[in-house]
Amino acid sequence: MSFGEGVCVRCEERAPMPGIELCTPCAVTVRVELSGGIARLERYLERWAAFDAWLGARGLGRAA
Ligand SMILES: [Zn+2]
Repeated sequence: MSFGEGVCVRCEERAPMPGIELCTPCAVTVRVELSGGIARLERYLERWAAFDAWLGARGLGRAA
């Protein structure tokens, strides 16, 4: 398999869009996966911040 010509790097089936090496369906899927990952990361960080505040309110130090 050669890079840079003719096939999507994710599904290896469809022709890629210029410049991103992904076909249109894969580009949409990757974007959805990324936005879901960012939302999970934000929730995770919010919980750490809440834990940090909880510790701070009790004089137990910092979470990070
Ligand atoms: Zn694809």
